[in-house]
Amino acid sequence: MSQQVQPIKAIFLLWLFTVAATSAQEWVLQHVKVVDVQTGQLSTGTRDIYISQGRILTIAESGTSLLYSNFKVVEGNGNFVIPGLWDMHAHPDDPELWRMNPLRPDRDLLLPQFVLQGVTGIRDMAGSLEEVNHWRTAGEQGELLVPKIVACGPLLDGPNPMWDGSVGINDPSMVASVVDSLILNGSDFLKVYSLLPRETYLELAAYASQIDFPMVGHVPFDVTPSEAAATGMSSQEHLLEILKECSSRREEIISDKIDYGDLQSGIERYVFRQNLMMDSFDTTKFQLLIKEFIKYGTQVTPTLSMWYKNAWYEQEYTSDSLWLSYLPEYLRKYWTPEHNDHLKHRDNQDFIAIKQRLYRFYEYMVAEMNQAGVAILCGTDMGANPLCFPGTGVHNELKAMVEAGLSPVKALQTATINPARFLKLEEDFGTVAAGKVADLVLLDKNPLTDIENVRTVKSVVQKGVLYDEETRFRILEEIRKAVQK
Ligand SMILES: [Zn+2]
Repeated sequence: MSQQVQPIKAIFLLWLFTVAATSAQEWVLQHVKVVDVQTGQLSTGTRDIYISQGRILTIAESGTSLLYSNFKVVEGNGNFVIPGLWDMHAHPDDPELWRMNPLRPDRDLLLPQFVLQGVTGIRDMAGSLEEVNHWRTAGEQGELLVPKIVACGPLLDGPNPMWDGSVGINDPSMVASVVDSLILNGSDFLKVYSLLPRETYLELAAYASQIDFPMVGHVPFDVTPSEAAATGMSSQEHLLEILKECSSRREEIISDKIDYGDLQSGIERYVFRQNLMMDSFDTTKFQLLIKEFIKYGTQVTPTLSMWYKNAWYEQEYTSDSLWLSYLPEYLRKYWTPEHNDHLKHRDNQDFIAIKQRLYRFYEYMVAEMNQAGVAILCGTDMGANPLCFPGTGVHNELKAMVEAGLSPVKALQTATINPARFLKLEEDFGTVAAGKVADLVLLDKNPLTDIENVRTVKSVVQKGVLYDEETRFRILEEIRKAVQK
């Protein structure tokens, strides 16, 4: 047991050391270029950001403010400052991974990686609330470096849930008591899952709207994205069910009257069905759906990078070897075809080809929705899905969005101001501005000219505490050593 506790202790000590450097005092980050994620403008000349009590006190042109001469000076070296990033779809305690029997100390090693890569907030999209509360407490007590966490707790699924740890709702009449008990246990929002029967979903949506509690999730198989939008699902994840709704052959697909010819196997039929939906995609239907999203303020978390990693797994597994070296063994193991449900049929070329074709379709959908003004959220699906990393997964997602057609500033918005607005936390997060929580990322290069530059993280500030280049490197190194044990 003592061996398991060791890595956390070591990280804790490093963390304490860092805290001593900045948190106890007021300090100024000098000579930085501030990225305005709302306008896409860069500050003219450099700025000094004054930080006090974990918040941004004021931002002044470099060298002009003499009011706070007692502030400790930290040199920003002309780095580019963006707001702390958000991963709006993360599963650091993914129930799908419980079968791997992860130990808490191993799982704990995932959390600091978000912060150290510039991700200072996450929306936890399934897991036990007990674990979330453990992280929150460990964070507050300075035992572990954790991002701010907004969490749903267990998934709400049908009578025979897809994953461990979900609440299976047997009957629509159970909805109110299930929701009330989740709220009592600390859920910040509800996450609906795919197998929820239509009647139960509608009851759940009605109850959530009656008590004005946020509901997000997978559009269930029995519901269309339009209906989910109209009934108050405020963020839709993974672009699910859109192809089905927008197919001109929707009726034969949902009633399972597809003529498969002599195709027998489940996998052949799956490939056939996906091709059929893409071939019969009706852009007029899609534009109508987009109008519904706009009308109801529905936001979309496409998790493009998750789909990408899935479609091009082999090539990505090789290029991600560095990031794999920071993961605990149970996760590294689960991200291989031998163990992973999402990596079945990798020997089937048609199956891989369909995944890749679907991905190009998802890119098109995201570009169209963005163009029309649907707010997009950056989410990685970090957890059981292969190669969706804590922290750097957000960099991958931003890159995927730009490749899909978003401008770099639009992509940055999906991980900053959009999440802050969505979570109604705009007063504290989302931009670099006086009064907000000092959650900042210092980049060596300008992310507005090339989104890949979000990877050039030099330092991170979380709640006013600076993790400079050396400290970041040391803690990450400590994690790497701990997971190689
Ligand atoms: Zn997920």
